[in-house]
Amino acid sequence: MESVQMIKELALAFGAPGFEDDVLAVARKFAPAGARIVEDNTRNLYICPKNEQDPDLPTVLVDAHSDEVGLMVRSIKENGTLTFTTLGEWVPYVLPAQRMSIKNLDGELVTGIVATRPPHFGGDDEPLSISSMVIDIGAISKKEVEMAFKIAPACPVVPETGFVHDAIHDIMISKAFDCRLGCAAVLEVMHDVKDLHLDVNVVGSLSSQEEVGMRGAKVVANRIKPDLAICFEGTPADDTFAKEHLIQTRLKHGPMLRHIDQGMITHPRFIRFALNLAKDLHIPVQEAVRTGGKTNGLSIHLSNLGVPTIVIGHPVRYGHSHNSIASLDDYKKGVRLAVEIIKAMNGEIFAGF
Ligand SMILES: [Zn+2]
Repeated sequence: MESVQMIKELALAFGAPGFEDDVLAVARKFAPAGARIVEDNTRNLYICPKNEQDPDLPTVLVDAHSDEVGLMVRSIKENGTLTFTTLGEWVPYVLPAQRMSIKNLDGELVTGIVATRPPHFGGDDEPLSISSMVIDIGAISKKEVEMAFKIAPACPVVPETGFVHDAIHDIMISKAFDCRLGCAAVLEVMHDVKDLHLDVNVVGSLSSQEEVGMRGAKVVANRIKPDLAICFEGTPADDTFAKEHLIQTRLKHGPMLRHIDQGMITHPRFIRFALNLAKDLHIPVQEAVRTGGKTNGLSIHLSNLGVPTIVIGHPVRYGHSHNSIASLDDYKKGVRLAVEIIKAMNGEIFAGF
């Protein structure tokens, strides 16, 4: 399938936490024909590649989150600029002078920029703080913002950017690779397993609101009650700034499997199974002992009676910004690893976990 086009459309789709509708519309477009697709009222999307589930087989959930870090309009100043609060984690220095897309009350996207003071006025010498920033949409009054632009408090906001694909050097640049690469991977895995004879049931999920605390995934786990879970993530790459011996995620070195992060000690037997399989199949992987970060694994592995869960991370440089860098080859290897795990899994192996 045309992975890059799917990744591009997913990455550019508007998907502030809680407002993932546009991402789900793209996902439906790229879901395998004939798959059963269900959307719940928390904006989680479920993709069942096969119509029938065998109740005697373990069920593997393949998850990624559909949201991205965003902002929300908090108030409108008399001069027509917008104050905002954050949806997810931002570092302040990536925001000034960047374009943002605001979804107005009619569902249309309005372009704004995070306002800065030009050098003609001495620039800004105050320390950067998100709480003092405003978005400027070019309006001249509060009334114009409300009446002409149809923008009100609570309108959601995401970065506005383009998509670059350099096939020769295997580089993709865009926003929201965390976690639209994962969304694409879920869809691609569903395509790849659809016609296979498997010893497990497979359900794909695109979970909402990960960036504000892994919320959608709680609902997903309650609904599907998986026996095992594979979470895709856009994993932050640290290969351009970490000390050499502490680099754990390099671009173009294959998917990253984490043994621990702040939300989960990864199930030791399941991750060992995945690492051994990767080794046998010569799929390069990176292993990490992370001191930060959380994924949907946090919500899923503690759901129901406990769910052995691994995270397959696609390395992403400069996540949570307008311009992240990722590699299609890393992505493809992550997809392949998930497919191979599903093909190799059965009730006996699961019972050994
Ligand atoms: Zn993520």
